[in-house]
Amino acid sequence: MGRAFVYVILGGGVAAGYAALEFTRRGVSHGELCIISEEPVAPYERPALSKGFLLPENPARLPSFHTCVGANEERLTPKWYKEHGIELVPGTRVKSADVRRKTLLTAAGETISYKILVIATGARALKLEEFGVSGSDAANVCYLRDLADANRLVNVMQSCAGGNAVVIGGGYIGMECAASLVINKINVTMVFPEAHCMARLFTPKIASYYEDYYESKGVKFIKGTVLSSFEFDSSGKVTAVNLRDGSRLPADIVVVGIGIRPNTSLFEGQLTLEKGGIKVNGQLQSSNNSVYAVGDVATFPVKLFGETRRLEHVDSARKSAGHAVAAIMEPEKTGEFDYLPFFYSRVFTMSWQFYGDNAGEAVHFGDYSGHTFGAYWINKGHLVGSFLEGGTKEEYEAIAKATRLKPEIEDLIELQKQGLDFALTV
Ligand code: FAD
Ligand code: NDP
Repeated sequence: MGRAFVYVILGGGVAAGYAALEFTRRGVSHGELCIISEEPVAPYERPALSKGFLLPENPARLPSFHTCVGANEERLTPKWYKEHGIELVPGTRVKSADVRRKTLLTAAGETISYKILVIATGARALKLEEFGVSGSDAANVCYLRDLADANRLVNVMQSCAGGNAVVIGGGYIGMECAASLVINKINVTMVFPEAHCMARLFTPKIASYYEDYYESKGVKFIKGTVLSSFEFDSSGKVTAVNLRDGSRLPADIVVVGIGIRPNTSLFEGQLTLEKGGIKVNGQLQSSNNSVYAVGDVATFPVKLFGETRRLEHVDSARKSAGHAVAAIMEPEKTGEFDYLPFFYSRVFTMSWQFYGDNAGEAVHFGDYSGHTFGAYWINKGHLVGSFLEGGTKEEYEAIAKATRLKPEIEDLIELQKQGLDFALTV
């Protein structure tokens, strides 16, 4: 049993949706493109799951956030795929791949062959078991990666209004879910191993602004320690968590966001891997000419930094997907992917954007007791990264533009004095 396509996208997440849109714009014919996804629904904007989806009132629900609404493009519903002659194969896990034969084998036993494969398998959430803690499959312990996780989180959240949540991890999931839990009237304690939240990106000064704000909303922080075990009731639900520092926290719900691992396993031993992802060149092409990789799973050259990176953010997924399809459909006209890393988050009424690289020395600017402030990162005499909270559209565009220019910075004190004006006038 088998089917053959010219193009196959493996994975049905953010990158897959944006790749499909680009394929249609570049004239893919009916019947040429197939998307195989383990998820039961058409590609959607994953960022909605930790934000609008968790709101107690008028929560976002599909079909409202199918890709590609996140970048103000078309909304690709299942009907759209049908109308464009794209074979969407949902609810289907690919269990093995053979890049020499150009075939994929699904869990249902079907062989799907391709001329060109785009790997868009994203990543999976790390489990506490991988850190030696057992019991995280309990009914009230929630991870958040896909729609099924988000539905589960909403159900558990609704069952414990007024109760206690323990949020494990101080990264993106931890921060965004903690805010959503508070909005759902649940008491939140955050636990993470670092000295401050968002340790991979934020400076201590930036982090302390957000931590103060969260504390003003009743969130408690327990830093510098990790969970060591769960306590359960007779039905198997978690009732408390024990921390390595000896403290014990009662819990009606536990939300875990302790990082991800890219889904590369189908291709290990077949394609070159680097920095945990599938290594690709500036055309997003892997070590096999017929195979491209995009989104969270791809390690690609970031020209601006002169090195390869694997990025775990939606803008990178959207743009790498678009670029790969351009390179596949019009190779002569498509140059090297030249990407400016862009990360953002929205929590409560706050909103920040970051561009570039947080390497070197940070120069803070603006009013850290108000609503608009930021930081620049200066590495080897050049501005390489910019962060801004509470900016306008024009201000965010300005910091993006300034970061891309990598201007030389001689006087850090002068830069601090100029603050946002530096980006607005550079
Ligand atoms: P994914 O969107 O994860 O898609 C991968 C797809 O591949 C899935 O459909 C999966 O089921 C499928 N798949 C994997 N293996 C197989 C297989 N063997 N067979 C079949 N199908 C398979 N980034 C931001 O920049 N801003 C945000 O605000 C933001 N919020 C986020 C909120 C949440 C809750 C999460 C989880 C992530 C968030 N991100 C955010 C990150 C962003 O969503 C990811 O970077 C992006 O989804 C990556 O796109 P992708 O297509 O590479 O992977
Ligand atoms: P992150 O990598 O952002 O954060 C993980 C956090 O958990 C880090 O603070 C990490 O510390 C900590 N941690 C690691 N191990 C443990 C442990 N055993 N116990 C407690 N804490 C631990 O990952 P998330 O899980 O928050 O996010 C998952 C993915 O979703 C990421 O790719 C992220 O980019 C994406 N996402 C992005 C959003 C956005 O861009 N706005 C929003 C939501 C999700 P350490 O640094 O020491 O390892």
